[in-house]
Amino acid sequence: MIPYGRQNINQSDIDAVLEVLKSDYLTQGPAIPAFEAAVAAKIDASYVTAVNSATSALHISVTALGLGPGDILWTSPITFVASANCARYCGADVDFVDIDPDTFNMCPQALESKLKLAEQVGKLPKVIVPVHMCGQSPNMRRISVLARTYGVKIVEDASHAIGALYDGSPVGSSRYSDITVFSFHPVKIVTSGEGGAAATNDPEIAARLSLLRSHGITRDSDQMTGPSDGPWYYQQIELGWNYRITDIQAALGHSQLNRLEQFVEQRNALAVTYDQLLEKSDVVLPGRNPLARSSFHLYVIRLPEADATRHRKVFEALQASGVGANVHYIPVHLQPYYQRLGFGPGDFPTSEDYYKRAISIPLYPDLTEQQQEHVAKSLDNALAF
Ligand SMILES: *Cc1c(COP(=O)(O)O)cnc(C)c1O
Repeated sequence: MIPYGRQNINQSDIDAVLEVLKSDYLTQGPAIPAFEAAVAAKIDASYVTAVNSATSALHISVTALGLGPGDILWTSPITFVASANCARYCGADVDFVDIDPDTFNMCPQALESKLKLAEQVGKLPKVIVPVHMCGQSPNMRRISVLARTYGVKIVEDASHAIGALYDGSPVGSSRYSDITVFSFHPVKIVTSGEGGAAATNDPEIAARLSLLRSHGITRDSDQMTGPSDGPWYYQQIELGWNYRITDIQAALGHSQLNRLEQFVEQRNALAVTYDQLLEKSDVVLPGRNPLARSSFHLYVIRLPEADATRHRKVFEALQASGVGANVHYIPVHLQPYYQRLGFGPGDFPTSEDYYKRAISIPLYPDLTEQQQEHVAKSLDNALAF
């Protein structure tokens, strides 16, 4: 089976991990700040806090922005559940903004009308989480103007998008947001096994992120409420968690980061090959935002019509021919947990239409042209029924 995504591990990655295993620190050592500095340099961010997952990064990010009970977070339904769950961890409420049908990202027009209505009824969100679906930036220019107008903070969920560009800047430079979050899960662009990071240009937010990553504990006397008792002393000044990444993971992530441009170039080239192979197929190819260079975490094709039965048949036929397709994502508001909170079918029609049509086909740096041809032929065969 050709998987939909897969990591690329070379000898340098293995050597980097072995070096940490033979060193004094498996965690809380020097590989972590080195990794953070390397990520910051790649994405042109002032501060990067590496953690054990993007889920943790989202949680500490919205906490650092003050999200809590009584507050509301908005994201789009076509994302992994973590983009919404981070609000629930803080006791905040979640609502959704429907997607743009071509890019699958948060639709700025839908955001604008929803903000207008929310202001009228006094229910503006505190934080919005635009998702870089498939590795392509949302329309951050418009989203950030709207956020500023309504006094809303922005956390970009760029879990798919390290190495991507938007409007001439690396995704993560947070030109249009307060914080940008990345994932280093093995199916993503670069991996640390499990891992994530939160990037910001605000020194106060950065300080809170690093506190919250490790129990809310500080050893910095400037942050303490009073004088230190001695060299052993630390203070817990907030409630945080243990979301630390290990040096083993950080070393792997750092080594992978050296191939970031290569991975993104390979993914873009593979996407162009799919564009050509599927040009005449009875599917809708992924839409491109001219302001963005996608990192192409995913290549999502859509069936011409929303037809749940046909969708399933095409998907099963692909799997039967050894093509490990996937669907990204089941609309979050249709998950039983979110339906119990009051959401239901019909709430976000563009997302629901997308879900009945979308199939992610395999895309990862080591995918060969023959495999791509097999995927394209299998898709055409599956569509012929
Ligand atoms: C993968 C992913 C996450 C969660 O990442 P983890 O590192 O697995 O916690 C969050 N949001 C999106 C959009 C993702 O794709």
